[in-house]
Amino acid sequence: MAFQLPDLPYDKSAFGEIISAETFDYHHGKHHKAYVDKTNGMLADAGLEGKSLVEVIKAAKDKGNKGLFNNSAQVWNHSFYWLCLSPTQQSPSGELAARIEDDFGSLDEMLAKFKDEAVGHFASGWAWLVLDGDSLKITSLHDADSPVAHGMKPLLTLDVWEHAYYLDYQNARPDYVETLLKKAINWEFVAQNLDGEGIGRADQKG
Ligand code: ZN
Repeated sequence: MAFQLPDLPYDKSAFGEIISAETFDYHHGKHHKAYVDKTNGMLADAGLEGKSLVEVIKAAKDKGNKGLFNNSAQVWNHSFYWLCLSPTQQSPSGELAARIEDDFGSLDEMLAKFKDEAVGHFASGWAWLVLDGDSLKITSLHDADSPVAHGMKPLLTLDVWEHAYYLDYQNARPDYVETLLKKAINWEFVAQNLDGEGIGRADQKG
């Protein structure tokens, strides 16, 4: 057994100009696939064959195995990121909408804060909306680092590595972040993650 590159949950041309098919070809077909292949290549030496991806991430962190941590966390983060996106425009509802109002004042306030965090994050990494204890929080983590390695429950992420947006937005990270937040978030999936479902959906057995 080995980890697999998960299929995209939509057609790669479903987002039109928001995220081009070419971006998916590179980002999913080459970058994400390379993280899967590199992780698989390191499992035997680390004695972690047969573990789940999240177990591998946590074990690699505990052992200080940076190469395995970076690659396995990138596999999980990307699997989660694809699930956070939807070609059909949505907005939060129900418990998620109520929690956003409680913790940020309004959806617009939350989105503005998320955008600031994603745009202001220096160099490569990921911006996250997480459930930390009982409150929603916006944070960003560097390089491959992931909330699943920190006991936080991830609800939503945007990849702010240049490879996520360079083909469609060149160096305009703010345009990429704003466009995706406005038009391409799967809020139904984000709501399911309040119960921790997304952690499992992006996980798999190695
Ligand atoms: Zn990426």
